[in-house]
Amino acid sequence: MLIDTHAHLFWRDFEGDFSAVLERARAAGVEHLVLVGTDVRTSLQAVEMAALHPEFSPTAGVHPHDAASFDEAARATIRELCQREQVLAVGESGLDWFKEYSPRAAQLEAFAWHARLSKELDKPLIVHCRDAFDACFEVIAATGVQRGVFHCFTGGQREAERAVELGFHLSFSGVVTYPKNTELRAAAAAAPAERILVETDCPFLPPQSARGRRNEPALLRETAECLAQLRGSTLAELAALTSANARALFRLPS
Ligand SMILES: [Zn+2]
Ligand SMILES: [Zn+2]
Repeated sequence: MLIDTHAHLFWRDFEGDFSAVLERARAAGVEHLVLVGTDVRTSLQAVEMAALHPEFSPTAGVHPHDAASFDEAARATIRELCQREQVLAVGESGLDWFKEYSPRAAQLEAFAWHARLSKELDKPLIVHCRDAFDACFEVIAATGVQRGVFHCFTGGQREAERAVELGFHLSFSGVVTYPKNTELRAAAAAAPAERILVETDCPFLPPQSARGRRNEPALLRETAECLAQLRGSTLAELAALTSANARALFRLPS
């Protein structure tokens, strides 16, 4: 059984075939999904959807792309949502120096805000990091947050070691199945067993066999199979390991 630790099932991409998507996920052995909010609207949607589906758990946060519009009203709503018992984590938040849709100063400020909230509420921080590892590490060290995950981890061994040293987990997505990503694959092979997770980040980043198409939770199995192969273990072992890690990090009841 697998846990998809990062899915955006609330977007329109899934409107047409939502129940078929869920059925395929179940058939592929995906037993639980973390629905990760990216702004006020989707954080509220994640909470609403989780109330209807016991296999979903919601998170609340504002993505670095939207950091420029992260105003007082948005902060108040995200804080209120994160305080709810069923909301497992703070985020996603982080730094995206690649697309830079929001100015860097606004991203840094919003990320530090989420990190402080995560520490205050003792709930893990879901970090989106694109071309910004050193800056993310600085914010994490400065705010003292010690629990969370680098979602869709795309760094190499140096970045993996630093993230682990700071107390964070590494979540591997379909990107790890792309044969050209040799540094990422080496980092995935070497990462400490107790710190690895798997995710789809659907509808984005499908694994190798589905590149160019919409990603969905059932395809998590392909990513898990690839990760198992890289680490010299079986799919069953990898699934048990990453699910136990996800349950511990997000304090999911077993
Ligand atoms: Zn992200
Ligand atoms: Zn995401």
